[in-house]
This record gives sequence, structure tokens and C-alpha cells, in this order.
Amino acid sequence: MTPFLLSIPSATIASSLHSFFFPVHVYLLVLGHDIHFRDKKIALLEAGPRKDYDHMPDSYSNRVSSISPGSATLLSSFGAWDHVCSLRLKPFRRMQVWDACSEAMIVFEKDDLDDMGYIVENDVIMSALTKQLDAVADRVEVFYGSRAVGYTWPLSSHRCDTSPWVQIELADGRRLQTKLLIGADGHNSLVRQKAEIKNIEHQYDQSAVVATLHLSEATDNNVAWQRFLPTGPIALLPLSDTASSLVWSTCHEHASELLAMDEESFVDSINSAFWSNVNHSDFIDTAGAMFRSAILLLTPAGTAVRQLPPSVAKADPESRAMFPLGMGHATEYVQHRVALIGDAAHRVHPLAGQGVNLGFGDIECLARHLSAAAFNGSDLGSLRHLLKFETERQRHNVSLIAAIDVLKRLYSTRLTPLVLLRTWGLQATNALPFVKVRLSL
Ligand SMILES: Cc1cc2nc3c(=O)[nH]c(=O)nc-3n(C[C@H](O)[C@H](O)[C@H](O)COP(=O)(O)OP(=O)(O)OC[C@H]3O[C@@H](n4cnc5c(N)ncnc54)[C@H](O)[C@@H]3O)c2cc1C
Repeated sequence: MTPFLLSIPSATIASSLHSFFFPVHVYLLVLGHDIHFRDKKIALLEAGPRKDYDHMPDSYSNRVSSISPGSATLLSSFGAWDHVCSLRLKPFRRMQVWDACSEAMIVFEKDDLDDMGYIVENDVIMSALTKQLDAVADRVEVFYGSRAVGYTWPLSSHRCDTSPWVQIELADGRRLQTKLLIGADGHNSLVRQKAEIKNIEHQYDQSAVVATLHLSEATDNNVAWQRFLPTGPIALLPLSDTASSLVWSTCHEHASELLAMDEESFVDSINSAFWSNVNHSDFIDTAGAMFRSAILLLTPAGTAVRQLPPSVAKADPESRAMFPLGMGHATEYVQHRVALIGDAAHRVHPLAGQGVNLGFGDIECLARHLSAAAFNGSDLGSLRHLLKFETERQRHNVSLIAAIDVLKRLYSTRLTPLVLLRTWGLQATNALPFVKVRLSL
């Protein structure tokens, strides 16, 4: 039992540090910088050892995230974005998404002054967050090497505070207690399971292959590319003028083959996935061309110019890795003295690059409601304000998660009527600037 946690109201975060695990750090930092939490003790349970980020390697990590401007603003609010910028990141100003079964494409663009998003290595974000956590060490304590293995909940059925503590059991036998437990322990969340919160989940028939790639020639490389193949989307995300990161979602068998093949075949497969028209059919091409001509007549200025993706020259040795993909959504994000954030609450296909950004959105929202509760002297673990967080986030997340799932399914088929439907849909959307603005938010 840790007296530190017993003596005063505390918010405990159950989770651990991981190479691609940062929502919880952001959350702690937001609370750590909030004046209304001055008298609160905040703790992070961290299963792994503290990672040394002092010496970032010259080579790029194969784990990167597309960070939205909104997430960058959140990181800026407590100084972490400055660290990210001083390490390395690559802004992108254009996103081109197109169908491998037709000529249909959609382009999102920002002008020269605005960034559409940033490709950042997860280790760079972790380095920035660790630095900022050190700066608030007097108010946010990180327990490294502390894996939570069990939870005992307060008498939630009575909703009374005779025992207002969540008891946490660690793998090494220590026990902690807290008035608010934030579960940010990923898509297999133990917090969610022990709280008996239902999770609607589905394993996709795809795995994502990631790798660090080098381009044949230097360019501005400020475009994020994604092509929907019938087996899954392949994305090329810029890291520098000459390097990009690959996220290729494909059937498990093909993913294993991509991992096992020699470098030359791997690079050839990537280039062919971006360039080959083997999935085109004359019927779809003709129908698509007619529809496009009609749109051009109606909205001559509405369509964007197609750019050609760069060609890949080589892949970093050892950078190839594979992750099985799935979707999930917790039916509840909160219970008495418990809240779920990040992948513990929702898991999405990486095709929209939204997983981490959704988690950051949860944090901004939960921190805002808890800050108001702390300002009013309310009990932080009370359902009253936790439910406000749940309502606001579910309203935002559910439609996005459903849209990503529908997109994944719609683009996983070669059925002619569906290919035609999505071809026309994409062409029409591409021609309607006001719809695109909403989609790119
Ligand atoms: C290939 C791929 C590409 C992606 N690209 C993007 C992208 O471009 N943009 C984007 O926004 N998102 C992207 N994502 C999604 C993003 O990686 C996830 O949404 C994000 O990692 C979720 O973070 P999290 O902290 O909620 O969970 P996780 O990253 O799963 O972290 C969970 C952590 O909790 C720890 N833990 C688990 N159980 C316990 C326990 N009992 N006690 C203590 N600790 C525990 C684990 O060790 C782990 O460190 C991508 C995902 C994949 C697979």
C-alpha cells in the first residue's frame, strides 16, 4: 500500500509505457499543468522500464503516426510540441487517396501556409512527453515496472462512498488505491474487462505491414499517399525529402509473404501496388470517365489534379514488421470511479490514421470536464461529470469509427456494382469542396 496514494485525492492511470503508447502521458501532462489539479496527486502505472530517449538514432523508426493539427495543438498546450519540432517531424500539405480498381481519387489540400498534418515517429512523441513528465515530477509520479493485474471496485451498485477507492493490485504484490482510475491500457484493456464493460469488437482479415522506405529521388515529399487495393489500403507517409513510412494493410497470408521476401521483391511489390492497373476493368473505366466528364461540366473548378506517387528504391533492413488489425468499441467509456480512453475505449483500422488522434481527443475532453469538477471542489470519480465526457466523446467517436469500418469493407471488394458505386461516390466527393472540408477536419 502506498501512503502517497492514500493520503490525498488522487487520479491514478493504469497502463504502461510502450514504444507506441502515448495518450496516457498526454493525459497526465494535461492534468499536471492544470492549476485546478495543484492539490491532487497523480500517478502513472508503467509496466515497462523507463526508456532512454536521450539519443535518437539517425535512422527513422518504423512506427510513426499521422498527427492532426488538433492533436499538435493539444501537445503544444503543455510544451511537448516544441520538443517534437526540435527533434524531427514531417508536415504534409496534401493527401491523395485513390482506388486501384478505377481512376477515382480524392485529394485533400492545404495552401502553403497550413499543414494538413504531421508524420511523427512514435519514439519522438514519447521522448517529448517523457521530458515534459520529468518537468512535473513533483505532481505526477510515474511508477515504472508496475503492471496492474487486478482491480477491486468500490460498492458501485450502491453508488455510495463508504469506500470511495478503486483498489489496484500489481504483479509484484503491491496494492494501490485511487478515487479515479483512467484505463488507457490498449485494445485488450484489463481495466475494461475487470469493470465488465462490453466491447463490440471484430478482428479484420488483414494485418498491417510497416517499414521505412527510401525514395528513388529527392522531392518535396509533402504528400501522404494511400491507394485502396482489393486486399487492403497501402499508404506512403513522408518522413523527409527522401524517406517515407509504409503502412500496408493486406490479408494475413500476403502480409507474412511481404515480411519474408527479399528486399528487391519487397520494393518491387510496393511499387507495383502503387502503379499497377491490373485491377482495372474497361467497364468501370468507361463508366467512371463518363461520370467524371459530367462532373467537370457542372463544377469545372471542383476537381483536383492527379499527382504521381514517388517510386521506392529501397527499404531499411530490419524495419519490416506486421500488426494484426481489428476494430472495437466499448459500450460504456465510464463507470463509477473509472474512465476509459484511447484504444481501451475504441480501436480503429489505420486506414484513416485516426487511432492516436481519437485518444488525444478523449484526453482533451476528459481533462476539461475533470478540471471543471476540480474547480468546483467535486469528487473527481463521480459519474456526474464522467458521463458528460462519455456523451461528448461517444457522439464524436461512434460515427467516425462506423465510417472507417464501412470504408474498409467498401474497398475490400471487387464486385462491379460496389466498385462503380464507390467510384462515383469518390468522384462526386472530390468535386464538392464543402464536403471535403468536412471530411478533412
Ligand atoms: C500499423 C498501425 C499504424 C497506425 N498508424 C496510426 C496513425 O498514423 N495515426 C494514428 O492516430 N493512429 C495510428 N495507429 C493507431 C495507434 O497506434 C493506436 O491508436 C495507439 O497506439 C493507441 O494507444 P493506446 O495508448 O490507447 O494503446 P496502446 O498503444 O495499445 O498501449 C497500451 C499500453 O498499455 C499497456 N498495458 C496493457 N495492459 C496493462 C496492464 N495490465 N498494466 C499496465 N500496463 C498495461 C501496454 O503494455 C501498452 O504499453 C496505428 C496503428 C497501427 C497498428
